[in-house]
Amino acid sequence: MRVEGIETVRRILCVFPRYTSSFGTFEHAYPLTDGVHAFMPPQGLLLIAAYLPEHWPVRFVDENIRPATSEDFEWAEAVLVSGMHIQRQQMNDICRRAHAFDLAVAIGGPSVSACPDYYPSFDYLHVGELGDATNDLITRLARDPSRPEQQVVLKTADRVAMSEFPIPAYELAETRKYLLGSIQYSSGCPYQCEFCDIPGLYGRNPRLKTPQQIIAELDKLRECGMTDTVYFVDDNFIGNRKAALDLLPHLVEWQKRTGYITRLACEATLNIAKRPEILELMREAMFVTVFCGIETPDPDALHAMHKDHNMMVPIMEGIHTINSYGMEVVSGIIMGLDTDKPGTADALISFVDESRIPLLTINLLQALPKTPLWDRLEREGRLIHDDEGRDSNVDFLLPYEEVVSSWKRCMEAAYQPDKLFARYQYQCDYTYANRKRVPVAPELKTWPNIRRALIMLRNIFWKVGVLGDYKKIFWKFALGRLRRGDIEGLIGSAMIAHHLIVFARAATSGQQSASNYSIRLREASVPAE
Ligand code: SF4
Repeated sequence: MRVEGIETVRRILCVFPRYTSSFGTFEHAYPLTDGVHAFMPPQGLLLIAAYLPEHWPVRFVDENIRPATSEDFEWAEAVLVSGMHIQRQQMNDICRRAHAFDLAVAIGGPSVSACPDYYPSFDYLHVGELGDATNDLITRLARDPSRPEQQVVLKTADRVAMSEFPIPAYELAETRKYLLGSIQYSSGCPYQCEFCDIPGLYGRNPRLKTPQQIIAELDKLRECGMTDTVYFVDDNFIGNRKAALDLLPHLVEWQKRTGYITRLACEATLNIAKRPEILELMREAMFVTVFCGIETPDPDALHAMHKDHNMMVPIMEGIHTINSYGMEVVSGIIMGLDTDKPGTADALISFVDESRIPLLTINLLQALPKTPLWDRLEREGRLIHDDEGRDSNVDFLLPYEEVVSSWKRCMEAAYQPDKLFARYQYQCDYTYANRKRVPVAPELKTWPNIRRALIMLRNIFWKVGVLGDYKKIFWKFALGRLRRGDIEGLIGSAMIAHHLIVFARAATSGQQSASNYSIRLREASVPAE
């Protein structure tokens, strides 16, 4: 399927846009690390970079690490950009800067695929996944890299099978500057939660790579220096349970071969708790975190959003089961649902306490294009198209101010330092204690690795333990970890806790958006052309 016979050479600049500050990018943790600047390497853009003709020179710039410079634009013959809705303003800004150098700019990825009309200034719109549209784009750039007179929209009709995807060009990314490594095994999800755009964008029948591809990708990530934690960005790791069971033994073998130095994480539906055969293999493969979209502990609300599969086991029991296999649960929570009542915030705060989940992304409901929620709200006249000054485009049933103030109350309660560290303490004592015991690999005993850990400990002790305003709570937790020799638990928990505490304070004082999807920018916005 890959386009063949291209002889011309084009220099391609791939630019990944900066993220708007958000809960899930962990930027307040970065100053505690040894030089992390960004969250995860972008899969889509690195995949396209690998798919371009082999003889085309490619430069990759992640603007979360450094901005694309005049020298980059002068070097390039064309620019490729990709990103999510939350990066819309920044993508339009990259386009404006590239046009100042008279370069053709193409945009692909989830945002343009759902909303092509958000990007009127781009020369090429790549709508859909890797496929015939990608080949068409490459052929056109090979023939003539100059800007077309009018915008050209290329839509993928024929997708490349994931089993034919090349390994993303991880070698172009500065892997050491990312908090997590990323990898993708499948795409799509069989469920149809009302608010989610995954089934509409990527289908209900998950497409798959082969286990061999994943092992080759993990090996390459290792070669490129990314060893700590690798996150499976699949929409739902158990969207195809048989495929998950096919892959897991390969991951176990890979961990044995490479000395268990990499931790794995993924996203999966909570009904994974019903699958002990999957959970046991995940434990063996050193999965340490599972992000579950729990969304709400209210059964009526789950039913209304078509997420009944969250109730296949009682929610608390499901969380406890996952913890018993050594995996911490991270939870997505949505507020502003039609089923919310005046008592919803109190119920959520109790849920946070009872579940002992340290990290919950608590967002206001946002209607995304290509979702059943969008269609319903449009029918009901409850979509707010000009959401300037609001943190959601949904006209809630409860008064807007009441929903936002409930959200702030939940954030404040969930991320009180004493409560948060108590939840981490539970995770250390119970969940982490259930992880597979492995000998410390020789690779972890090398001086560069020990030096990294010392730098992180120094930063944490100084910035939190000396300068921080919750230092007593921190030291109580830290001394307990040090007494047990649990440096990994200390560093990991303290870094993430610091981000959560700082972010929640900014949120409750109105300096952060209540929705991770909101395109409202608190920083100076960047102009689109
Ligand atoms: S289970 Fe998750 S990925 Fe699947 S439709 Fe629901 S929210 Fe989306």
